[in-house]
Amino acid sequence: MSLFSGVQQGSPVEAFALTKAYNEDIFKDKVNLGAGVYRTAEGKPWVLPVVRTVEKALANDDILNKEYLPILGMESFSLAATRMLLGDDNPALLQNRTFGIHTLSGTGSLRVAAEFLAQVLGKKIFYYSNPTWDNHELVFKTAGFEEGRKYRYWNNATRGLDFDGLIEDLRNAPEYSVIILHACAHNPTGCDPSTSQWAQIAQVMKERNLFPLFDCAYQGFASGDLVKDAFAVRYFVQQGFELFCAQSFAKNFGLYSERVGNLTVVLNSPDLIAPVKSQFTIVVRGMYSNPPIHGARIVTHVLNNAELYNQWQDHIKTMSSRIIDMRKQLRETLEHLKTPGDWSHLTQHIGMFSYTGLSEKQSLHMVKKHHIYMLRSGRISMCGLTPKNVEYVAKAIHETVC
Ligand code: PLP
Repeated sequence: MSLFSGVQQGSPVEAFALTKAYNEDIFKDKVNLGAGVYRTAEGKPWVLPVVRTVEKALANDDILNKEYLPILGMESFSLAATRMLLGDDNPALLQNRTFGIHTLSGTGSLRVAAEFLAQVLGKKIFYYSNPTWDNHELVFKTAGFEEGRKYRYWNNATRGLDFDGLIEDLRNAPEYSVIILHACAHNPTGCDPSTSQWAQIAQVMKERNLFPLFDCAYQGFASGDLVKDAFAVRYFVQQGFELFCAQSFAKNFGLYSERVGNLTVVLNSPDLIAPVKSQFTIVVRGMYSNPPIHGARIVTHVLNNAELYNQWQDHIKTMSSRIIDMRKQLRETLEHLKTPGDWSHLTQHIGMFSYTGLSEKQSLHMVKKHHIYMLRSGRISMCGLTPKNVEYVAKAIHETVC
């Protein structure tokens, strides 16, 4: 008799299970549209050249060591990351009422934020978009939130934002609920509010005293422009909100497995920084004690050096332009094939992902019949498309919907 004999089989995590199935598939034209990772036009992973350059310099630097970082991580990194998010002229930075916490990528940032909100402030209800990234609920529940509620987001009929539904759900949320907002490039739909819609969201959240927790996993990666992709977060700060923002450097630096993240904390007074920091320190100490250094060193070098920074800007433009181009090619090929339906949303949406509008049954058919790996929800990653496979994918969609 084992202590563990009663342990039930847990359900697999869909995106990771899909990649495993894809790797095991021997079909030669298989396509992976499930994974949230960048691929080159040849379908290969890409280590950014600027990352390689910095890694070589770090490897040759005999002064660097592998000692522990402080509990809240590398300060030069979290300051650079916070500046990148908010902009140097942001009032919160100028008034010394913001700070960053170096965390374990975007997920770690969200978890630290959720732990603080649940354990230290006693928050119980969080709201997330319907649909959202599949990990939000697990992260928040595990951190101690009692109840997760959905706010309306996606309208399948228009393949766009259900803005009226979203506003109505926010209006009805209890005061001081935590609202998770995707800063840009909404995952999984690819559909973001316009700037005027963000202004209305901010207004309702202010009236209702709702707390914004931004999830920013795609800054720069979405449009190729760091400022544009940070619009929503900067706008909320200008409007006087206190907020948190979980930043990931997985996609925009291609540092997925290095787990580099930052939690930006914006408060309304510099006096609050010391007590709030002290509580975050206790939260992190009890979770993983302190973060890893390697990826944060790379990001800090790039963000603090004009020449490396310019190279990185070129890289994020390369990635975002390739994605925008694949959106165009997929739409054009579907329209050329006269595939039933309106495919304009593919080019209206932004970032790595799009909801195709395919049903669960159709999405499963894409996997089984065509070896095109995509989520049951109909979400595809544009990064898995290449000039070579886009026609195959379009023809498979055509066959599936006809
Ligand atoms: N938030 C969103 C919306 C995401 O899409 C992702 C990754 O796919 C993350 C957070 C977290 O990513 P990571 O923990 O790899 O930085």
